[in-house]
Amino acid sequence: MSREVEQVDIAPSIASLLGFSFPCDGTVIDEVIGHARHCKRSFLVIVDSLGFEEYVQNRGSLPFVSSMEARGLLFKCLSYSKHTTPSIASILCGLRPEKHGIRRTEDAYARKVRCLPEAAHEAGLRVVVIMEEYGAFSFQGLVTLVRPVRDRPDVLEFDEESCRNAIRAIEELDPNLLVMHLRSLDVSGFVPPSIELIDRSLRAIAKSLVGETVFFIVGDHPPHHREDEEHVALIVYKLRPMTERVPRSPS
Ligand SMILES: [Zn+2]
Repeated sequence: MSREVEQVDIAPSIASLLGFSFPCDGTVIDEVIGHARHCKRSFLVIVDSLGFEEYVQNRGSLPFVSSMEARGLLFKCLSYSKHTTPSIASILCGLRPEKHGIRRTEDAYARKVRCLPEAAHEAGLRVVVIMEEYGAFSFQGLVTLVRPVRDRPDVLEFDEESCRNAIRAIEELDPNLLVMHLRSLDVSGFVPPSIELIDRSLRAIAKSLVGETVFFIVGDHPPHHREDEEHVALIVYKLRPMTERVPRSPS
């Protein structure tokens, strides 16, 4: 049985790993600290529509993610909203929707509550945010690097570009905190092309790591047609770089 946690518990848990406190509605998940204590890099990958049951049913088609889960932690994580923007705000601010008041992306620009990426940046850490451009620009000036991804009809292409941006940011900046949003499962559904893309993207990002990194893979909300489901999957796993990198010779 997977233990139940809530989306608001993610931000304070990441903050605790990264060495600062983040007062909010959530509490630090002890198992995460036990699993990844002293790890100074956290990547938060928000996978749109990754409901808990959908993850469990499809884990056979997610070989990389399920290998992380098998060696790491899987939580049944309470989501408060059926919509993307308020859910992502709850994850990033550690506040329930009635407290953060962010219902649409434009509300993020008028936001008065502090979010985890901003707090991490203020704590002197390198922070990267990769998401759809309108949402991404609300972080401009608050984090080290914003990589906006232009919305387009082909969502698989959108996620591929997000993945390339993540790899480039890792190579250029070695971020302590990287936040990204993958959208294929929500737009295309749980069909092989989108499921495989999510798994492949996470594997590619993992391959580019430059140091020990804790992955937090979490759904924003269950799939929209699942009125009865309230939980998303939260997978936490600390990964080491797959290959030792040879330092670049000075040019
Ligand atoms: Zn969503």
